[in-house]
Amino acid sequence: MSDTSPYLVPPEDLGSLLPGEPSFRADQLRDWLYHSPVLTADEMTNLPSAVREAVGGDLWPFEVEVDQSADNGRTRKWLFRAPDGAAIEAVLMGYRKRTTICISSQVGCAMGCTFCATGQFGFDRHLEAGEIVAQVAYANAFLRRFPIPGSPDRVTNVVYMGMGEPLANYERVRESLRRLIDVSGMSARSITVSTVGVVPGIDRLADEPWPVYLAVSLHGADDVTRSRLVPLNDRYPLEAVIESAEAYFAAKGRRISIEWTLIKGVNDSDDQARKLAAIAGRLRAHVNVIALNPTPLSDDRPSGDDRIRGFVETLLANGANATLRETRGQEIDAACGQLRLRRATE
Ligand code: SF4
Repeated sequence: MSDTSPYLVPPEDLGSLLPGEPSFRADQLRDWLYHSPVLTADEMTNLPSAVREAVGGDLWPFEVEVDQSADNGRTRKWLFRAPDGAAIEAVLMGYRKRTTICISSQVGCAMGCTFCATGQFGFDRHLEAGEIVAQVAYANAFLRRFPIPGSPDRVTNVVYMGMGEPLANYERVRESLRRLIDVSGMSARSITVSTVGVVPGIDRLADEPWPVYLAVSLHGADDVTRSRLVPLNDRYPLEAVIESAEAYFAAKGRRISIEWTLIKGVNDSDDQARKLAAIAGRLRAHVNVIALNPTPLSDDRPSGDDRIRGFVETLLANGANATLRETRGQEIDAACGQLRLRRATE
């Protein structure tokens, strides 16, 4: 019996897990893993029992440690635990026409954004490509058995916005994109890679064959404000990030989105809103404003409702395309890193 999850093996090498089996068995296994994922190998009905046993013991590269639902079942949060103890968070959100999963690309994060639960814990390790795609596959397998009423019964959108900075784990994230798009057949248009501004990574992504969407987390519309929240700004200042995002837009023709976590007294002024609107206009970007989900290790607090409204109104009045992002799953710590933080401090 194999003790390697088949998701940790490149899809083209699955035959290595099935010595003595004809090669079409590996093709069948690949179909199950990447086209019709199931929660257990028992459900892989066209495979002989010996093959199911060979892959069944460690089908997933993690165990499901926490499985929580919120928003009347429309939001689901998982904390997966890898055999080495690494905690991996993913959040599934059902909408009317979309079922979106927010996945992690690293365990922890080295970027140290001051308002972020993951950043406050530091960096543990990169996730393997198989650990990244398995989060999507697990969600698809889960939805097959437990669909979200009123939402598509498979993952329609993937956002790399969970724990970690995807472009700091470039090669493995790239391989996960290849598997999702070229092997699973997802449209690049249904995938968004988010970055806090790793300029060389944005430039490399622009050279890849897949026109995925790019979301840039700015959080500050000048270098002083941004450096206070995003230490990486000292290395890749605002103007460099904007220029790199502009080049990405030119290369891919995909509208950039700007993520903006609104923090009381830090980046919620009308002055910041006006500067942000100018940046959004330059990039022809859409701005997603997100109310801060406060974490116990930071003094940063969310802006009040009036200020949130005022900030968005100033953005709109200055010509920006902007929406206030619906916050999901607050009662289950759905913001990235929060569930892991809760488990570690309990
Ligand atoms: S906001 Fe993103 S990039 Fe910044 S510390 Fe958190 S996970 Fe890392």
